[in-house]
Amino acid sequence: MQTQLAEFIRDTPEGREAEAILRKCVHCGFCTATCPSYQVLGDDLDSPRGRIYLIKRALEGAPVTRKTQLHLDRCLTCRACETTCPSGVRYGRLLDIGRAVVDERAPRSPMDRFFRAVLGFALPRRRVFSFFAALGTWLRPVLPRGLKAKLPRLAAPAGEWPAPRHARKMLALAGCVQPSLAPSINAAAARVLDRCGISLIEARGAGCCGAVRFHLDYQEKGRDDMRALIDAWWPLIERGEIEAIVMTASGCGSTVKDYAHHLARDPEYRDKAARVSGMTKDLSEVLPLEAIAEGAARGRVAFQSPCTLQHGQQIRGTVEARLARAGFEVTAVRDAHLCCGSAGTYSLLQPGISGDLRGRKLAALQEAGPDCIATANIGCLSHLQGSANVPVRHWIELLDEATA
Ligand code: SF4
Ligand code: SF4
Repeated sequence: MQTQLAEFIRDTPEGREAEAILRKCVHCGFCTATCPSYQVLGDDLDSPRGRIYLIKRALEGAPVTRKTQLHLDRCLTCRACETTCPSGVRYGRLLDIGRAVVDERAPRSPMDRFFRAVLGFALPRRRVFSFFAALGTWLRPVLPRGLKAKLPRLAAPAGEWPAPRHARKMLALAGCVQPSLAPSINAAAARVLDRCGISLIEARGAGCCGAVRFHLDYQEKGRDDMRALIDAWWPLIERGEIEAIVMTASGCGSTVKDYAHHLARDPEYRDKAARVSGMTKDLSEVLPLEAIAEGAARGRVAFQSPCTLQHGQQIRGTVEARLARAGFEVTAVRDAHLCCGSAGTYSLLQPGISGDLRGRKLAALQEAGPDCIATANIGCLSHLQGSANVPVRHWIELLDEATA
C-alpha cells in the first residue's frame, strides 16, 4: 500500500516501522473473515483492513475524529488477523503506533478518561485490586444478574506450594489480578513442575507485566511497569539461578515475550529486556509431555485457546496434548480461532461486543457437552466463568489434580 506519512511522524522510529508495515498490506481483506469485531458489527471500519486504512490516514496527517478512535477502540488486539494475513502484516505493532497518534489528536471524553484512569490505577496494583475483588465477592448476592456475571467468583484456596528443592529452578510471574482471582493457578503449576524435577519460585516485588496500562493507551506507563518487573527479576537472572521465566497467564506471556520490542529504544533496558524476552516461556512449553504420566479416562474438556496463546505467541496444540496425555478427552471446538471477548480491559470498556463474543464462544465450547472448560489465561477464565454452564478452570489445575 502506497503511503505518504506526514512530517510529524515520517522520520521517527515509529513512522519508519509503521510505513514498513503499511507497505506490506495489499488490501486483500482475507483478514476480515477471522476478525471478531467485524463478525459482530459487519462494518469494514471495524475490520483489520478498515483500521489499517484509518491508521494510514491518521499517519498521513488527515483529521482524526472521535469516530476514528471508536473504531480503533473496538479492536480486541486479538491478532487473529496476523495469523490469517498472507502478507505478514504486523497489525498489532501498527495498532500500537496508530492508537498513540490518534489518542494525542482526539482527546477522550472526561468520563472515558476517568474510567480508564480508574482501571489503570486499580488493576495493576495487587492490593487495590484485591480489595475491590473481595468487596465484589461480598456484595455478589445482592447485585443484579448482569453485574454479577462480571464479578469474580470466590477464589479456591491455593493449596501447598512445594519448597524449592531441585537444582533446576524457574521463575513464575504472580501477576496483578491472578493472585486475587485464582491463587491456585501458580501453586498448581509449582506442584506439577515439582513432580517433574523443577522448582518454581516467584520474585519478591514483581508486579504487573505492563499489559494493562499499555493497552489502556498509557503506553509510557505500561513501559514503566515493564522496567519495574525487569528490576524485580534481574538479581535472580544475573546470578544465573533460573533457567526460564514461566508464564501461567498467556496474556502476560505474550507481553513479556515482546519486551525486547517495547523497550528497544531504551538504551538502559534494551539488553535486559531482550534477555528477559528470550527466557520467557509459556507453561505448556516448559512442561515436558513425557513427564506426564499417561492417565485413565478423566472426562471431557473443551479447551479455549486464548488469542494471546494461539495468535500472540503462535503456540497451538501443546496444552491439548498435555491434557490428552493425562487422560482427558479434549473435545473439538468450532471457530477456535475467534476471541472470547475478554481481551484485558475490553470486556469493561466495550461490554456489548464483548458479551456477544462471550455468548458465541460459550456456545461453541459447550457444543460437544464437555464436563468442564479449560483455558490458559486468567482474563478469559474469569470472563467465561461469568456465564458458563460448566466449571471453567486453568488447564494446569486439571493436570495437577490428575497427576497428584
Ligand atoms: S492485513 Fe493482510 S490480509 Fe488484511 S488486507 Fe492487509 S494484506 Fe490482506
Ligand atoms: S486484532 Fe482482532 S479485533 Fe483487532 S483487527 Fe485484528 S482480528 Fe480484528
